[in-house]
Amino acid sequence: MPKTNPYQAVPQGPPAAALKSPPTVAVIFLHPMCNMTCTFCITEDHFDVMSEDQARDLLKVLKKENFKSVVFGGGEPFAWPGDLVRLTQDAKRMGFLVQVGTNAIALPKGFESIASIDRYVLPLESLDSAVHNRMRFHKDKHHQLIMESLKRLRGARKSVTLSTIITKVNKDGLKDLALFLKKFNQPHPFIHAWHLYEFLPQGRGGRVNALALAIPDKEYMAVCGAVKAMGMPFPVYLRKDMYRSKTVDFFWYQRGQLQRAGMNEQGKVRDHYDCSCL
Ligand code: SF4
Repeated sequence: MPKTNPYQAVPQGPPAAALKSPPTVAVIFLHPMCNMTCTFCITEDHFDVMSEDQARDLLKVLKKENFKSVVFGGGEPFAWPGDLVRLTQDAKRMGFLVQVGTNAIALPKGFESIASIDRYVLPLESLDSAVHNRMRFHKDKHHQLIMESLKRLRGARKSVTLSTIITKVNKDGLKDLALFLKKFNQPHPFIHAWHLYEFLPQGRGGRVNALALAIPDKEYMAVCGAVKAMGMPFPVYLRKDMYRSKTVDFFWYQRGQLQRAGMNEQGKVRDHYDCSCL
């Protein structure tokens, strides 16, 4: 799953305690670095590498604030200099539902059986490997890698959320991908949800490739609507702006200071602000 610190301004926002319906999912950006260079990547380069101690302290705060689930992301969380599996074990001991959003390149041996990871969030841009690999560069075999990882996760009955970025390049194949996923989710359903993201012209990839990838909002809605009408056996979520969700808040470090972004109870974005919870 693609990830970033999307907000440039740093106004002071309201404290989380003021929210009427507190978010339940915390996405933690561990660092900006990645072992891939995706064409649409919206990750920004200018935030800090979180230390393991900082991440652990953040988990304690999230627990106090009654978050139910944490999603470790980046950049690529398995390329983080800290020990990601150890951190997931800490999170699991604290009672969180633990998710890891990864491009799957550096998955550890036996990843499908790691007990402290409840769910993986994996990218799949197309059923057509050439289309997928045009959007995600990794020695022309990223599609194969994802498919193999999905098969292993299905075999282990490990829960997976899939993410797809809808662009000019892959929009026409979305229905084929949906048909494939319907069948692939058998005999033991393991796909928790499918997130269809609208491409955003932001970040280190998205900004420079906007012309080649962006599609009109109407077209995004039309292709996603067609998939939803297919009656998929798992929830399909449209994400026009991945950073706008009432149930999710985002956390990262910048210049040594914890940052937080999310939405308020009116559904308005709270631009990111220095978080004083640590
Ligand atoms: S380069 Fe690709 S895998 Fe890495 S953070 Fe960006 S979108 Fe995710």
